[in-house]
Amino acid sequence: MAMNLIEMLRQSRHTVAFTGAGVSTLSGIRDFRGTGGFYTSSYHGMQVEELLSIELFHRDPSLFYAWAREFVYVLDRFSPSVVHTVLAGLESRGMLRTLYTQNIDMLHRKAGSVNVHEVHGSPLHHHCTSCHAVHPYEQVVPAVLAKKVPRCAACGGVVKPDIVFYGEQLDARLLDRAYREMAEADLTLVLGSSLTVQPAASLPMATYYHGGKLVIINAQPTPLDKFAKLRLEDLKESFEEISGWLDAHHE
Ligand SMILES: [Zn+2]
Repeated sequence: MAMNLIEMLRQSRHTVAFTGAGVSTLSGIRDFRGTGGFYTSSYHGMQVEELLSIELFHRDPSLFYAWAREFVYVLDRFSPSVVHTVLAGLESRGMLRTLYTQNIDMLHRKAGSVNVHEVHGSPLHHHCTSCHAVHPYEQVVPAVLAKKVPRCAACGGVVKPDIVFYGEQLDARLLDRAYREMAEADLTLVLGSSLTVQPAASLPMATYYHGGKLVIINAQPTPLDKFAKLRLEDLKESFEEISGWLDAHHE
C-alpha cells in the first residue's frame, strides 16, 4: 500500500530516488530494453549497441544521428508523468534530497526537479568533439531533424550529445557520490528500474548495507527485491496516491 510509503517518506530525514525506464514509459516514451524497444530492433542491420558505440560515432556520426532523429531529438515533445511531478513536489517540500536517474529524456528537469543526476548522461547539452564548445539541445535539434550531422558553430567539428555511449565510461565521480549518498540515506526509492544495468543498478544496495530502507516499485521483478522493505508493482497507482496526499497536506 502506498500509505506505508507515505509514512516512510514522512519519517525519513534523508530520502534519495533512483529512476529507470519504467518512469519514462508512463510518459509514452518507449522502453530502450523492453519488448519492441530499441534494443530488440535493428536499424540498417545494426543493433543499438553498435549504433550507440563511440567507435562508430567517430567513424560515421551520420548513422547515429539518422537513428536518433526519431528518438533522442523528439524527446522535447513528451510531458512529465505523475511520477516526475510528484518527485519534483517532494523535493520542493524537503522530502526528497536527491534524484539519480538512468533515463536520458530530461523529464525530471522538465517536471521541476533541481537536484537531478543523470548517470547515463543527457542530451540537454552537446559538446563539440574538436573544440569542446557546449551546444544546448534546442540548438542541435533543427539540424538533426533536417537530416544533417550537427556541426560546431565555432570550428565546424562534429557535435556529440552528452549521453554515455557504449565504449565510454560512466562518470566515476558521480557513481561514487551516488554510492556515498545512498549509504547515508534513510530511504532509497527505486522506481521503474529492473536494476539490470550495472554498475548503476547495484547502487541502492548501499542503503540496505548501511541500515536504510529500500522501496522498490517496478512492474517486473528485480534482483534486489528480497532486500526491499516495501515492494510495489504499480508506479502510476502508487504515485497518484502520494499526489493525493501531497495535495491534501500542502503546508
Ligand atoms: Zn568546435
